[in-house]
Amino acid sequence: MDHQHFEELLLNDEPIAREENVALQAHLRVCPKCAALAQANRALNHVVMAAPVSGFATRFQVRLAARRKAQRRRYLFGGLILFFSAVGLGIWLALPILPTALFSPSTLLTAWANTLASTLSLFQAVVEAGGVILRVMARFIPSETWFLSLSFFSLLTFGWMLSIQKVARLPQAI
Ligand SMILES: [Zn+2]
Repeated sequence: MDHQHFEELLLNDEPIAREENVALQAHLRVCPKCAALAQANRALNHVVMAAPVSGFATRFQVRLAARRKAQRRRYLFGGLILFFSAVGLGIWLALPILPTALFSPSTLLTAWANTLASTLSLFQAVVEAGGVILRVMARFIPSETWFLSLSFFSLLTFGWMLSIQKVARLPQAI
């Protein structure tokens, strides 16, 4: 029998008849390639499948469950702390107006209305003062300066619009 036959025998790794085994042993002594193959087969057969230590899966699951529980607890505590901080901040902010709001809401409303009205009147005063200042400046500043500054500002506005258009046309980098 030739080398090819023995090589197939070794690669198939199936039970061999007694006479064939004798012929194979004889071939192994003269063929280093088949000898190496046979040695590899023996080594593979002797490898013990590494089994996980008993109870590994159970321990892993227990640890995982414990970790999840700890994480849930952390989330819960974090949420509680956030909630109470928000409530405390709200109470602290509302404290100055709380007695008024509880015992005489109308007073609070009046105070708010007053604040709003005074803010509006302040705004109106600022606008009026600005108008007066502009009128005074118009009387003092020569018309050429007004014309120059007006053209300067229109140029500025034109350039600004151009740049905005350029920016808008740029491809959006994401
Ligand atoms: Zn051979």
